[in-house]
Amino acid sequence: MKEKIQRFDDLKVWKGEIPTWFRYTAGVAGEQFLRALKEHQKIMGVQCPKCERVFVPPRLYCEECMEYTREWVEISGPGYVETYTVLHRDLEDQPLDPPKIVALITWPGVEGGLIHEIREIDPDEMVFGLPVEPVFKKDPRGSITDIEYFRPVE
Ligand SMILES: [Zn+2]
Repeated sequence: MKEKIQRFDDLKVWKGEIPTWFRYTAGVAGEQFLRALKEHQKIMGVQCPKCERVFVPPRLYCEECMEYTREWVEISGPGYVETYTVLHRDLEDQPLDPPKIVALITWPGVEGGLIHEIREIDPDEMVFGLPVEPVFKKDPRGSITDIEYFRPVE
């Protein structure tokens, strides 16, 4: 079949369904991270044995030292809103009421951070540097959404 499309109108569309399935793996470090969320409701990071930097989400190797990061450490204490955005419409362009707040949350002395939803605060009250804590789901499944959302620390 050799057909040269000259005009946009000549494009053909066949509508239908293609049955398929896939399995996503989080990788060695990612799986342990998700397992800690599910089984212990803890956010875990890994520490480089050489430069002692801690990474969240965890990774197998320190990108600076190329050292294998095998030391797991619990990330405790509040995270802080590094930056955030307020979403007023969903992916189908429908209004979100109330609006959703999505933030990059970081921890002092930790490389990286997590992007997650912030609730229990009015968007107008959001500020950079807001201390937040995770609220875990009652029925964890080994997913980043086992953290249901983050909320301001009282
Ligand atoms: Zn390192």
